[in-house]
Amino acid sequence: MQKKNVCIIYTGGTIGMTKTKNGYAPQDGYLPLLLSQMSELQSLRIPNYTLIELNPLLDSSNIAVNEWNQIASTINQNYENFDGFVVLHGTDTMAYTASALSFMLENLKKPVILTGSQIPFCEVRNDAKDNLITALLIAAEETIPEVCLYFSGKLLRGNRSTKMSADELIAFDSPNYPPLAQAGVRIRINKNNVLKKTSEPFSMQLLTPSPIAVFKIFPGIQFGIFENLVTKELKGIVLEAFGSGNIPNYDHAFLRTLEKAAENNTVIVVCTQCLRGSAQIGDYETSAALQKNGVVSAYDMTVEAAVTKLYYLISKGYSKIEIERMMEENLRGELTI
Ligand code: ASP
Repeated sequence: MQKKNVCIIYTGGTIGMTKTKNGYAPQDGYLPLLLSQMSELQSLRIPNYTLIELNPLLDSSNIAVNEWNQIASTINQNYENFDGFVVLHGTDTMAYTASALSFMLENLKKPVILTGSQIPFCEVRNDAKDNLITALLIAAEETIPEVCLYFSGKLLRGNRSTKMSADELIAFDSPNYPPLAQAGVRIRINKNNVLKKTSEPFSMQLLTPSPIAVFKIFPGIQFGIFENLVTKELKGIVLEAFGSGNIPNYDHAFLRTLEKAAENNTVIVVCTQCLRGSAQIGDYETSAALQKNGVVSAYDMTVEAAVTKLYYLISKGYSKIEIERMMEENLRGELTI
């Protein structure tokens, strides 16, 4: 059987870092050299791979819209030449990048698998090797036409994933959606959970760095402080509310903030702070004001998905009303209504 071809896009992150006097940091050329010396990657079972190292290599804390554009463009330019893609990425913002790419890569027909590790290759005991090898094998699997995140035995839908642990090797989960595959003794793909291929041609949407904000609600929050942040420039707000989308409603500054956002055409979308379940405003009196002021529910979307979906819809040039409508629609399997 002919070997499949996988493109590895290396963006940085712990996986390829080495120890420096300031702590772990990526080093140009180090990972490609290491991989070229890894006997496991010479196995007949491993697909052919080509590694593209992005410049500069980054700790993922520094990855945002411009780097998402760079990754998406690299996939777009190489789309026809490969059966699948593996994106090596730091774990800190991997769920954001996975979510962003899921929206940017429209009508995707091939697997795009993000992975990384909690311990770098340069350490004797590491999770880097297994994550990379399994991600490579899955990326050669044509039945997964979506952006996914592979980590420690589980393949997750990218825009459903979130980083759960800063130090455990099982660092990611998708609390509101079952895994797409499990890699135990065998790799088992849960076909029913995977998106279906569309007949529309593949295309890519670049993102524009737009001013948006995430406000986390907490007991005692003084909305007056937020009021000044809601300016004409602010295009969108993701509100992380309590439970099913509730907000303390005793503070008049809260209503003024909502009115100001409406006047400025700022989209407001409400996520829940809970890891599982849905924000559905209007169930309680404490979310009634949100509903009256045209705020929309993110349902069971992660904050990562809500933020990157906002960037995407703003970049598409949609009006406020269109963005509000589409934030509540399921575009890439990111939400359940
Ligand atoms: N700070 C690192 C990064 O996100 C952490 C990691 O990769 O695990 O790039």
